Amino acid sequence: MNTEKTGFNTKLIHAGAIDDRFGSATVPIYQTSTFSFESAEYGAQCFTGERDGFIYTRIANPTIKALEQQIAVLENGYGAIAVSSGMAAVTTIYLALMSSGDHIVSTDAIYGPSRNVMEKQFSRFGFQSTYLDTTDIEAVKKAIRPNTKILYIETPSNPTMSVSDLKACAEIAHANNILLVVDNTFSSPYLQKPIDFGADIVFHSMTKFINGHADIVAGVIITKEQSIYTQLRNMMISLGCNMDPHQAYMVIRGLKTLAIRIDRAQENAAKVADFLEAHPKVAWVKYPGLKSHPQYEVSKKQMSGSGSMISFGLKSGFTGAKTLMNSVRLALLAVSLGGVETLIQHPASMTHSKVSPEDKLKSGITDDLIRFAVGIEDAADIIADLEQGLEKV
Ligand code: PLP
Repeated sequence: MNTEKTGFNTKLIHAGAIDDRFGSATVPIYQTSTFSFESAEYGAQCFTGERDGFIYTRIANPTIKALEQQIAVLENGYGAIAVSSGMAAVTTIYLALMSSGDHIVSTDAIYGPSRNVMEKQFSRFGFQSTYLDTTDIEAVKKAIRPNTKILYIETPSNPTMSVSDLKACAEIAHANNILLVVDNTFSSPYLQKPIDFGADIVFHSMTKFINGHADIVAGVIITKEQSIYTQLRNMMISLGCNMDPHQAYMVIRGLKTLAIRIDRAQENAAKVADFLEAHPKVAWVKYPGLKSHPQYEVSKKQMSGSGSMISFGLKSGFTGAKTLMNSVRLALLAVSLGGVETLIQHPASMTHSKVSPEDKLKSGITDDLIRFAVGIEDAADIIADLEQGLEKV
């Protein structure tokens, strides 16, 4: 059906769906590496682009295309490129848009490997980078150089939950003729649509909320314009970091319940954040839905909900954090987020362990920081679990 004028929930169920000749209610899995051509002429025309028939799954595949069309609609973008993981999205963007001698300005507290690959690996190719607190708009303006090609922000950021102002960042990027890239993993298009605020490229680790069931690793890049879409798609095809058709089917399946999963998880998260903020052993809590969050007002302008990610610290620091992580019974002690189950982890020694101690300190990834990904269990049970764990601290 045409979902152009429908609401978000209808788009989650019907946008991008393909018709098949048997009237399947779900998108079929085209588990094939290659597609036969009806004639030699047809095959040649697929290669010149005169026809948009399918050639080979690394280039395009009907199941993957259905997912890409749906995500592009959900993010209000021109087109989407599904990739094998969130990190495949990050590296495809860096490699497609940067050349030797180019510079990127980025949020400092981003997912550790997204920063690490730039500083430790792509610096070998002459890529230059500046990592800073992108909630400080004046500092962002000052960091732009004549060779800057990308302003890259993650908002809310992993794991500090800082919120960068999308509109202000888009204005800076466009005044300097550079692209604004946004990692929208923590919000999903249900809570935040960066293209509406001026972003040129949005991407996700679909391993998280979009798939939502902790059973798939996947990523996607969405662009506002066709020219950048083509540039990124060509890089994805060359790198060979395409998605697999079965993986695409699983994501399409998980995506249908995105809104109801997030509604439930963030309802729980608000209760957990209030509980933590009132607890005598808790030193601080950072959740965009709390009035105490430093960018509470910015988050209200650009997010339609506060999500289900919380970071907090205990008065007893890392020692207390370890005791709590070893005491919880409902929450899984595991990295990742955005699934239906509640997870707890310690970024400084886990997801962000490869960031240098100085950079961790500068970007607020302190030793006491605990990251809590709230799931869709009963809020009372999640809170009771934290309560019994905190008793042991
Ligand atoms: N971006 C963010 C914000 C993440 O949290 C992650 C993974 O945790 C990634 C990107 C990388 O995604 P993946 O693990 O799917 O490669």
